This record gives sequence, C-alpha cells and structure tokens, in this order.
Amino acid sequence: MSLVPMKQILDEARKKGYGVGAFNVNNMEQVQAIMAAAQKTKSPVIIQASRGALKYSNFTYLKHLMLAAVEENPNIPMAMHLDHGNSLDSVKKAISLGFSSVMIDGSLLEDGKTASDYDYNVKVTRSVVEYAHQYGVTVEGEIGTLGGIEDGVGSGSIHLTDPAEAKRFVDATGLDALAIAIGTSHGAYKFKGSTNLAFNVLKEVRALITIPLVLHGASSVPKELIDAVNQYGGKMPGATGVPMKELQEAITLGVSKINVDTDGRLAITAAIRKVFATEPEKFDPRDYLGPARDTLTGIIAGKMNDFGTAGHASDYQPLSLADMKKVYAK
Ligand SMILES: [Zn+2]
Repeated sequence: MSLVPMKQILDEARKKGYGVGAFNVNNMEQVQAIMAAAQKTKSPVIIQASRGALKYSNFTYLKHLMLAAVEENPNIPMAMHLDHGNSLDSVKKAISLGFSSVMIDGSLLEDGKTASDYDYNVKVTRSVVEYAHQYGVTVEGEIGTLGGIEDGVGSGSIHLTDPAEAKRFVDATGLDALAIAIGTSHGAYKFKGSTNLAFNVLKEVRALITIPLVLHGASSVPKELIDAVNQYGGKMPGATGVPMKELQEAITLGVSKINVDTDGRLAITAAIRKVFATEPEKFDPRDYLGPARDTLTGIIAGKMNDFGTAGHASDYQPLSLADMKKVYAK
C-alpha cells in the first residue's frame, strides 16, 4: 500500500463517527511507536511533521522514516501530513517530499505568530488548495486561533471560531478539512482551573459545514506521565490537558482528526527520565530510547482505542494520490 490521501481517511472516519489521531514525529522511535500502535489496534493513522521537525531532520531523514513506515505496514492506511504549513512555498516543499496531505495555517501570517485577517486566510488557503489538489493532496486549513505556542507556532491568544465565518471560509476555499478553535491550546499547560471547551461553537460549525473538522492542541497531558516526569527529576508543575471524555464528546459532535504532540513528548521524557534515574549505569541509547518507544506505543494505542479508530484499518480500499487527482478534477 502506498500513502493514502488524508481526505479519504477523514471522510471514512466522518461517515462512521470515529476520530483519527494525528501524531507528530521528529525521529525514528516516534514513527515506529505510532506504527506499532496502529498494528496492535488495526487503526488507520495520520503521521504529521511540523516545519520545525522537518528542519530538525534535514527534511530527507524524516521523509524516509515516514516512507519506511508505509513500506513496513502495507495493511495500515497511513497519511503523511504537513502540520502548520505557513505559506504556499512550505506546502510546495512538502508535496515535493511526497506528503499526501498538507495544512496551511492562514489564521496566522507567514511568521507563524501574528494573527492574520479573514481575507488573507482565504487568499493563502485558496492558493494552496489550487496547487495541492492538482497532485491529489489533501488540504487542511484553520479558522480562529488556538492558545499556546508550540514549535514556534501560535499567536498565544485564543480567538474562538465564528461559525458563520467558518462556513464562508469553506465555500470560498474548497478545502478538505477545517481546524477550528473551541478553546484548546498547544503545549502542556492548556488550562488554568477546569477545562472549558466551547462545545456550542463546535455544534454550530457542524450544523453549517459538512467537511471533517480538526482539533489541534488536543493532548490530554495524562497525570501518570506528568507524575513520572516530576518523580524522576523533571519540573512540570501544573501541566494540564484536555480530558479524554471531552475529546470523545468532541468526536461525537463531529470532530474527525485529533492532533496529539505533547502527550508523545511526555511519554518519551517520562520513560527516559526513569531509566536515567533508576539505572544510572546505562549509557547505550537503545537502553532508554527502547523503553521510550514502548511507553509511547502504549499511550498511542490507548488513544486509538479511546478515539474509536481501532479496528477500522481494513474497512475500505485505499485510494492513491492519482485516484484522488481524478476526484478533484471532476
Ligand atoms: Zn496545531
């Protein structure tokens, strides 16, 4: 099986009412952990790389790690997705590397920090849709802004999605999936006090538009991982995330793609800290990267079960980018 357009993975999820996790990667162990979890639970999967991750891995390394995942797992529908593309140029680069899906985040200007206006967002997103669809590549856009800053991306302030504007945006751009802001944040410190997601906004958006919806900043920041980090010398007091129950509610209300980065980072950090603290004589990287990979596999498999993705890997005949090109050309 080759890479699958993300549109198909999300359309299928939307039809059956389950969510698909999109997991960020920077290195081999993360790619392997995600695919091991997908195998274990028989789940379709989205692997995504930020611009920062691509730069860190000198582009080529990460590309080949992701392609290795496809080669090793022919029974798993997998999309390779660019997270938070900031310009048509960044999208062109990702497509030239072989990505089957791209995000253009036109809610921010090209610096990835300054909130843009609606007209700018429509213009840049439309240009990406026109370019990407020629290659059969899926496009995710964003309207409204999230809180928090991750990988240098984010305005730092939350601006909830306006449902009517979201509808106009989808009609004006023709994109395939829409990230909306309902109060989630990037990073490990999402809420002061209790979670407060704007489910009313999600309901209103869902009533107006039919394409799959995406939730960014959706890590749960599990207490056991934070406790392990802190127990073994880390310092992450007060870290909080979105409880799984609320994510499941969001899926029920129509979210199809759930972005998870922070929880993967925490799993790796907790496992490595534990080895360093309890077995200080170890110095072979495999002795701590191996346990990190195992911990991450467990966390991701748990999410695949909780999001309802498990068991859906062989529900459908995967399309190729060439097939998808024909769909877009119609
Ligand atoms: Zn994001």
